[in-house]
Amino acid sequence: MKVPLLDLKAQYQVIKEEVKEAMEEVLESQHFILGPTVEALERAIASYCGCRYGVGVSSGTDALLIALMVKGIGPGEGVITVPYTFFSTAGCVYRLGARPFFVDIDPLTYNMSPHAIETFIETECDFDSSAGALLHKTSGTRIRAIIPVHLYGQCAQMDRIMEMARGHNLVVIEDGAQAIGTEYPYLKSDQPARAGSMGHFGCFSFFPSKNLGGFGDGGMVTTNEEEMAEKLKILRTHGSKPKYYHQLVGGNFRLDALQAAVLLVKLKYLDAWTNKRRQNAAYYNSLFQQPGLVEKGFVTPPQAVWENILSEKLSNQKSETSNSKFEIRNSKLMGHIYNQYVIRAKRRDELRAHLKEHGVGTEIYYPLPLHLQSCFAELGYKAGDFPESEKAAAETLALPIYPELEPAQQEYVVDKIHAFYAS
Ligand SMILES: *Cc1c(COP(=O)(O)O)cnc(C)c1O
Repeated sequence: MKVPLLDLKAQYQVIKEEVKEAMEEVLESQHFILGPTVEALERAIASYCGCRYGVGVSSGTDALLIALMVKGIGPGEGVITVPYTFFSTAGCVYRLGARPFFVDIDPLTYNMSPHAIETFIETECDFDSSAGALLHKTSGTRIRAIIPVHLYGQCAQMDRIMEMARGHNLVVIEDGAQAIGTEYPYLKSDQPARAGSMGHFGCFSFFPSKNLGGFGDGGMVTTNEEEMAEKLKILRTHGSKPKYYHQLVGGNFRLDALQAAVLLVKLKYLDAWTNKRRQNAAYYNSLFQQPGLVEKGFVTPPQAVWENILSEKLSNQKSETSNSKFEIRNSKLMGHIYNQYVIRAKRRDELRAHLKEHGVGTEIYYPLPLHLQSCFAELGYKAGDFPESEKAAAETLALPIYPELEPAQQEYVVDKIHAFYAS
């Protein structure tokens, strides 16, 4: 049996005719860059994410870049983020001449640890309250922003992150590339918030392997601030407004109408696909319950994170616990959209080779944490600085989780894993 990590052909078979029709409309219009189709996608994604504005851009990477640019973040300034993420999260900071300051992840969720941010701010920074500026003590760098990553499809602990950001005057840019539609029990509003709607900006990627993937590169920045949305639109076309008059130096960060047409079709299916991913995850979890794995150090993705946070919140509002909106909605909370189903395993590399031998595709996200990448050598980090990130990089493995995956394929994957640990 063959079980690829991702099979986009199966999905394409279902939407083929609709997609071709939508693309045909763009072809007939010969309007390829920005325009009404892109605007329609911007409205649809903003609404899907629970945000007021969406600005279509050329990739998830450019979404991060332009969000940093619109806040004027650059040389002499710093941004707090995690070393365990896709490269562009920190690459964008560095490209603008700013400095990434890494903090470690939580070993359970693989997301930014609020405790690590707290420790970093308390021990390595000073807050100048008259200037409202957070300064890194040894370098004097002014810290401007924080980029939490919603890794694998689950939100970082946004309420604690937002609280710390507010207290230190930091811009929050959510890297939601793997988390479109993920819900988080954010008690600022009366219903769960979606990824990208809690910080100042949300950044999304339409790279083909994301849950909402285009037929090429694409991305979106979401925001609730009108002024920021306007400025982002100016920056994505070289900072020009009106045309050929430049108040700002931007770039070509535009989204194509053909991508928008494809994505508008796919967006209609996204919730159904996400539910399939969640069902597949639940099925894996039940199959992995069999004895023999936990003792071998095999860990499935976390399940109860939000339930814990939720029950803490509920106990703080005792009077209305019994019929709290959150309690009712919790059962339907889309707390994880499983862009990846990532397990933690001892002898990970051997396991991966064994699965490959049996036709099962897997991937390591990510084998080398960013603080150890040679391009960031001048930042001065060393092995051992972020032990949880380093451990995750050495132990985690993504298994196939795509919506069209068959139960028999999942059973096969789990059988092969059992066989590996039994031998
Ligand atoms: C995919 C991804 C990006 C970059 O998106 P592109 O569209 O490929 O540029 C950024 N951050 C994370 C966490 C990602 O997974």
